[in-house]
Amino acid sequence: MDANAAQTTTTPRRVMVTGGAGFIGSHITESLLDQGHEVLVVDNYYSSTRRNLVHLLDHPNIEVMRHDVTFPLYVEVDEIYHLACPASPIFYQRDPVQTTKTSVHGSINMLGLAKRTRAKILLSSTSEVYGDPQVHPQTEDYWGNVNPIGIRSCYDEGKRCAETLFFDYRRQHDLGIKVARIFNTYGPRMQPDDGRVVSNFIVQALAGEPITIYGDGSQTRSFCYVDDMVDGLRGLMATPHEVTGPINIGNPVEFTMLELAELVLDITGSGSRIEHRPLPQDDPTRRRPDITRAQDTLGWQPRAHLRDGLERTIAYFADQVVT
Ligand code: NAD
Ligand code: UDP
Ligand code: UDP
Repeated sequence: MDANAAQTTTTPRRVMVTGGAGFIGSHITESLLDQGHEVLVVDNYYSSTRRNLVHLLDHPNIEVMRHDVTFPLYVEVDEIYHLACPASPIFYQRDPVQTTKTSVHGSINMLGLAKRTRAKILLSSTSEVYGDPQVHPQTEDYWGNVNPIGIRSCYDEGKRCAETLFFDYRRQHDLGIKVARIFNTYGPRMQPDDGRVVSNFIVQALAGEPITIYGDGSQTRSFCYVDDMVDGLRGLMATPHEVTGPINIGNPVEFTMLELAELVLDITGSGSRIEHRPLPQDDPTRRRPDITRAQDTLGWQPRAHLRDGLERTIAYFADQVVT
């Protein structure tokens, strides 16, 4: 199956997207609506705004519910994309206890819902389950190198526990689970103030302010454009019951933060200078997905080159600043 084209021939379903007002969630919602599905967006706007959905609100097949997934929810659905969770370090560290509750209590509630309705449920896990990895690139069978008591732990350990819950609901209740390990993703509708590196550099470059590089800028990340991510996640959801993951979904081309800064400066033509700031605690040194499993199982691989994706993202942010 080619996941990049997989989802076009399906019958309409009732799909719930938790975190559907967020950056990735709003793109999944849009893609599901485009293909004729009914979408129930569930979000408490902890790290997003309704603005991400405003262009979809008149669509006859969307329903939006303000709800915190740490509380039970009784609705009838066929599929669940469980994305609710703040994803940027400054947002998930703002109220770390709530972050862990969202991953753990939120997953228990959504798994309970999936168990009752027999819905398929996909978890947006993260490359952070590998922590500061000692294996490079990261394969799914690597167990990770995670600090359990640091400032990133609320997110990393929360997601690790969410994965545990997904696999225990599978073993105990034969639930149709799909676990995606998402690597750094970027694109339109990232929050300009979420502190992630791509949004920070773009906002800074457009404003002519200094580009803030944490540490010496030699740390690496591998950036996936959001459209590719949506194709990968939808492809994973479309797999048969036997396929559970975990599956890495991300772009395997690795860049240093210095290279990213130079690319953003080049595309924007900005005169911003580079300014170094202290490296945050437990900041992973290198990160790159091994996507062999996604290629073999889903027939998926990312298409967008970083320059092209950045050009589209910069155009979006430039438009936001002007309007
Ligand atoms: P985002 O912050 O834009 O979206 C998350 C959404 O979840 C927001 O709309 C937020 O308001 C909502 N939310 C948070 N807590 C909630 C709660 N208790 N109840 C209901 N809604 C809640 O982030 P994103 O980048 O779109 O990330 C989406 C998912 O993908 C997250 O689960 C994240 O962990 C995962 N992920 C993202 C990346 C990335 O690079 N973007 C990388 C790895 C994993
Ligand atoms: N739950 C929910 N919606 C449902 C079904 C369950 O929110 O449609 C919640 C419920 O509050 C419960 C959790 O999911 O706490 C786990 O449900 P499960 O059936 O697995 O366990 P139990 O109800 O036995 O605790
Ligand atoms: N980073 C940076 N400047 C910024 C924001 C982030 O140099 O203004 C670095 C950060 O220290 C990390 C990398 O960019 O090494 C990616 O950070 P981000 O918060 O986007 O994602 P994550 O660390 O969760 O992968």
